[in-house]
Amino acid sequence: MSYEGPDPDGFDDYYNNAPGNPGRRPRGTRTRPLLITTAACAVAAGAIWVVTQAVGGSGGGDTAKVLPAPSRSATSPTSATSSAGASDEADAKEPNGSPSKAPSTASPSAPASSKTPSKPAGGGTGPLAGKVVVIDPGHNPGNFRHPADINRQVNVGNATKECDTTGTSTNAGYTEAQFTLDVSRRLRTLLQEQGATVKFTQNGDRAWGPCVTERAAIGNQAGADAAISVHADGSGAGNRGFHVILPASVHAGSADTRPIVASSRDLGERVAGKFLQVTGQPPSNYIGGGTGLDTRADLGGLNLSTVPKVFIECGNMRDAQDAARLTSGTWRQKAAQGLSEGIVSFLRG
Ligand code: ZN
Repeated sequence: MSYEGPDPDGFDDYYNNAPGNPGRRPRGTRTRPLLITTAACAVAAGAIWVVTQAVGGSGGGDTAKVLPAPSRSATSPTSATSSAGASDEADAKEPNGSPSKAPSTASPSAPASSKTPSKPAGGGTGPLAGKVVVIDPGHNPGNFRHPADINRQVNVGNATKECDTTGTSTNAGYTEAQFTLDVSRRLRTLLQEQGATVKFTQNGDRAWGPCVTERAAIGNQAGADAAISVHADGSGAGNRGFHVILPASVHAGSADTRPIVASSRDLGERVAGKFLQVTGQPPSNYIGGGTGLDTRADLGGLNLSTVPKVFIECGNMRDAQDAARLTSGTWRQKAAQGLSEGIVSFLRG
């Protein structure tokens, strides 16, 4: 099925549904300078990306560089455009035939949930022996068949929002849910090779979901040393690059991210640096002011986490250049490698 329409998903997960939106969506927090390890990278137009090469010193040369903070000022987090709620850890719902605000004669098709789908594996020897990593492949290939279920409102501490969303796709129909599962599986293999115990929030083995609340809970219950939610964005053509999303400090209702803000930032900066280094994918030219980092207070998967956690948007599926990468198995392996190296760096301190 093709996800049709004028980029109805807007920006993945959060952004509004405005097609061709040059990249601004309201949000409260803004990114700060990023300490990033170096790499050659294409400089996105308009981005203030200043990468320092460890000139002459490839060895040990992970030079850190502080990037200038974007000067975007925060806007109200509410005006997110379009329909109620608009955004979440899943791109806005994609119409494609399936009514998003669906009839609520929900079939009682209970999610095959409650117990976590994937079993830990690994846990062997290696530098990550004893470490637990939870990988959250964003969305679920079956979500669009269960609109009533995924549109159900859940409490994310400071708001209510949809249980989950469908995710976006490339113009040719390669879905974000396929992408996230593929990258996540590759990442799992790499982490297990390092001795880590890896759990998934879903592995394509359930009809839909889980809800964002459960995605967070799985990481919490596993006592994860690190958790990462894998996504790709659905913005307008010309918007390119990756960004890592960090939890803002949220203390509301059942959400309290205060204990994980600093550790998640550390994780996110390392992931961003290694992702850039390994994939050559530039930092976003439409989010984060060229830092490759963004901070958000409206994502249930972060708000409800009690373990260090970040999201990554690996690229924009609606941009031809990014789509060419995202649909390449070779590139997805690099993406997984970059994520793995970032997580390993974090876990090894
Ligand atoms: Zn997504």
